[in-house]
Amino acid sequence: MSTITMPATRETRSRRDDLVDRNELVVADYADAFAAPAFAGDPLGELIACRCECGSFGCSEQITLTFDEYETVRSHAGSLAVAPAHRFGFRSLTASVRFHHVEPADAQY
Ligand SMILES: [Zn+2]
Repeated sequence: MSTITMPATRETRSRRDDLVDRNELVVADYADAFAAPAFAGDPLGELIACRCECGSFGCSEQITLTFDEYETVRSHAGSLAVAPAHRFGFRSLTASVRFHHVEPADAQY
């Protein structure tokens, strides 16, 4: 089986960058909340609501990741967390029922 992929447009890459920046802010807020003395939960088990980072025009899917999962995605330069249904056109790194960790098919090595 072969997959045909098109390189992402500058607009799509820009949307992805904006989504990654937004998710960074959301996760930073969670990290602050976890660090608060009043926090009594398990920060590693908490699911953080983030936006799908596929960058498709009109995508407003929400995905959930644990703090560790999010850190894993961000530690792999250029990789993204996308909704399972939005994984097509990407190279899959890992998959779960909540999100897929992917990288753009045109990623440079
Ligand atoms: Zn999406």
